Amino acid sequence: MSHPLTNSATDVRAVELQHVLQIYRRFPVVFERGEGVRLFDDRGRAYLDFISGIGVASLGHAHPALARAVADQAATLIHTSNLYFHPLQGELAARLASLTGLERAFFCNSGAEAVEACLKFARRYWHTRGETGRTKFVAFTHAFHGRTMGALSVTWDDHYRAPFAPLIPGVTFADAARPDALDALVDGETAAIIVEPIQGEGGVRPISPALAQAIDAACRRTGTLLIADEVQSGSFRTGAFLASPGYGLTPDLVALGKALGAGVPIGCAMLSGPVAAAASPGDHGTTYGGNLLACRAALTFLDVLEGGLRDTIARTSAHLFAGLRALAARYPQKIAAVRGAGLIAGLDLTGDATPVVNAALERGLLVNRTSGTVVRLLPPYIVAPAEVDEAMHILGASLAGL
Ligand code: PLP
Repeated sequence: MSHPLTNSATDVRAVELQHVLQIYRRFPVVFERGEGVRLFDDRGRAYLDFISGIGVASLGHAHPALARAVADQAATLIHTSNLYFHPLQGELAARLASLTGLERAFFCNSGAEAVEACLKFARRYWHTRGETGRTKFVAFTHAFHGRTMGALSVTWDDHYRAPFAPLIPGVTFADAARPDALDALVDGETAAIIVEPIQGEGGVRPISPALAQAIDAACRRTGTLLIADEVQSGSFRTGAFLASPGYGLTPDLVALGKALGAGVPIGCAMLSGPVAAAASPGDHGTTYGGNLLACRAALTFLDVLEGGLRDTIARTSAHLFAGLRALAARYPQKIAAVRGAGLIAGLDLTGDATPVVNAALERGLLVNRTSGTVVRLLPPYIVAPAEVDEAMHILGASLAGL
């Protein structure tokens, strides 16, 4: 496959170096095609994709039903804006409402935008109720919620925050490892607590039952709203549509993104009835949000999952975690912990994860490093047990070669 400007991997990289803002550290590989769990580079070499575009390509690559639906929608109508009705937004909202138990959907284009919307609608709720001083947020250590100003303000790592200060005021970070300390940080000025049921970028760290209980208790005591950021953990990543209920959380707002569009950009904030009732026309909005193409992709994703794929996730997950635990038993000096749920997994190493990630790439397996020491796996939901075995074999060889 060639392009008028770029006809070799060297050209691809040279043109980018000259004209693309240099804010990503890319691996030295150019992907041109995908099929199922595999990606193919410009030399035709196959890679097993266990990162799926950071949790996005949930149906793998070139999924026939998704490809058909997107092509059909593109040939019918892609975008009309939110000035007018179209037949797909309400249908998608209704299905998401029944999957989440939250009444209303606001559609946007990314995870960070979904988080922004949740933060704004939480403040709007208290403003509408006349509690205009109730504007603060409590987030957690190791939290990652995105890179727009609001989402960044509730993101923990100073490396992301410092160059962009000052961020929005009134954010407190509670120690996720100290559930007993949470209550003192939540009061009548707290608009919302925001939490990832499983921290993704923060190192694949599922919330502890004690922290979930403390969050629930603090929200009940003060009336504080709960925002669950399920951009990475949601959309069936753990087998259930949302991870929150499994951890004992009952959010008032949920941020969704990533896997929901299976590769077509879509974000969504789900709002409880009372929170939704506090919003008025003009409060928030976005040009692209919930356009026909994005909605059609998300509806197709839900069709495939509810058509049976979701029933396979628990079994595939058990196979994946058995494989990872076997690796941990084989390399106790190198693997400190195995964490995760469903099809999000982290191998926490005793040192930097970079050499393992690079060695895996050389052997034809795509995973990534997060939180310094963690090898993260986010395979597509269609991954087969034999492909999991293949990935474990490559990971084992990559660990052995350290
Ligand atoms: N929230 C969580 C939990 C995420 O993992 C991410 C992205 O990694 C985001 C928000 C931001 O999503 P996006 O990159 O689509 O803006």
